[in-house]
Amino acid sequence: MTDIPHDTEFGDLELWFVTGSQHLYGEEALEIVDEHSGEIAASLSASDQIPVDVVHKPVLTTRDAIEEIVMEANATENCVGLITWMHTFSPAKMWIRGLQALEKPFVHLHTQYNERLPYSEIDMDFMNVNQSAHGGREFGHIVSRLDVDRKVVVGHWEDDAVLEQLGTWTRAACAWYDLRGAKIARFGDNMRDVAVTEGDKVAAEMTFGATVDGYGLGDLVEYVDAVSTAEIDDLVATYEDEYELAPELAEDGEKRDSLREAARIELGIRAFLEDGEFVGFTTTFENLTGLTQLPGLAVQRLMADGYGFGPEGDWKSALLTRAMKVMGRGLEGGTSLMEHYTYDLADETVLGAHMLEICESIAGEQPRLEIHPLDIGGKADPVRSVFDAAAGPAVNATVVDVGDRFRMIVNDVETVEPAEDLPNLPVARALWDPQPGFETAIEAWIKAGGAHHTGYSQAVTAQHLKDFAEMADIEFLHVDEETDLDDFERELQWNETYHRLN
Ligand code: MN
Repeated sequence: MTDIPHDTEFGDLELWFVTGSQHLYGEEALEIVDEHSGEIAASLSASDQIPVDVVHKPVLTTRDAIEEIVMEANATENCVGLITWMHTFSPAKMWIRGLQALEKPFVHLHTQYNERLPYSEIDMDFMNVNQSAHGGREFGHIVSRLDVDRKVVVGHWEDDAVLEQLGTWTRAACAWYDLRGAKIARFGDNMRDVAVTEGDKVAAEMTFGATVDGYGLGDLVEYVDAVSTAEIDDLVATYEDEYELAPELAEDGEKRDSLREAARIELGIRAFLEDGEFVGFTTTFENLTGLTQLPGLAVQRLMADGYGFGPEGDWKSALLTRAMKVMGRGLEGGTSLMEHYTYDLADETVLGAHMLEICESIAGEQPRLEIHPLDIGGKADPVRSVFDAAAGPAVNATVVDVGDRFRMIVNDVETVEPAEDLPNLPVARALWDPQPGFETAIEAWIKAGGAHHTGYSQAVTAQHLKDFAEMADIEFLHVDEETDLDDFERELQWNETYHRLN
């Protein structure tokens, strides 16, 4: 089950706060443990950093109780994962069966109730109820021995850095939850002869839990043809409210019919996706039979509503952009499909754009609706919204199929204001400085086999994506300001060995 794609919040999703202890300390100590864990869960739940409710669960002291809560978590639809905390020493053999059965992601919060040592007063009672330092190690040992993926967050539970890490992980867990059972619609196949947009869709469902299904253009055209004149009138009125229109698209403009046709295509695709409960889709300019224009504005607006998208049949980009949309919900900055398009080799910047399909959520200015010919595909001129992306830090991410696994590559970039206007460029774009520098970033990306398409975001960070990649158990490579090419090449070689043996 997935959320409605245009949801901007996380609805009734929740994390369960699960505390480990044992009976050695007596009932009174366990009551204190329960009080402490209730207070911590409530505090985390109230934090703005963690976008879902944190639900306090009873303290666990036996194998059966642990297994029972794990089974309940697995079966609870809106539970996206667990936060585990070892308040006291919880002999970890009792966690084996539960951890083996756990199907949801979890984060081990290695904290203790008291932030400071009360030096002048500390006694064994204090020690008894503040012993995560060894309790968390015992628990961590069994998780490592069982080879169960988890994140470990260390620090006091009220500390901003701890809350931020938990919040980031929670967003990744929500994206992970969202993809389980999600559906991507492919209108047409991959662009002919292209390698990087291909991949194993069965492996994708095994890895991400999402289905990628193909449809003939005729299936979509039925929806586009069924759109009423009144619906088109309404949507065109919305366009007039929300955009600055090029003169030829205005009420008496010579291309007004093309704008109405763009509205018809948007309404048709939207109805198709809503009917089938899809969270993302792909198009390709080579398969457009029955459509008058390559969907441009339609794709831009659907992405802005939270749908994932990949052009040229690139379903991996549709999956990735959808996941990034979910991770970034409610955060400042947008997320879009992007393509490394062209370079300024003197300034060492990359101009990112696509034929049409860049999401308006990354716009740094009011988008304009324009219409221009498309030099490929042989269809009528498509309408598109045109803007410069907002300046500031961003990431480009890609997921590629390297044959026996999926590999995610993330590059930190700094988006900059273009030095000059680009009056003749009829598409939305972003201009960025890749980190740690142009040659290193691009050589690393190319050696890792990174795609030309990316998920670009100013809301989502490399850490969100890393947490997500760990949940999916896929390879993760990060090109950031610390990247050294020799180390990066060795990492590629080591990863190859690890994944082949694993
Ligand atoms: Mn492309």
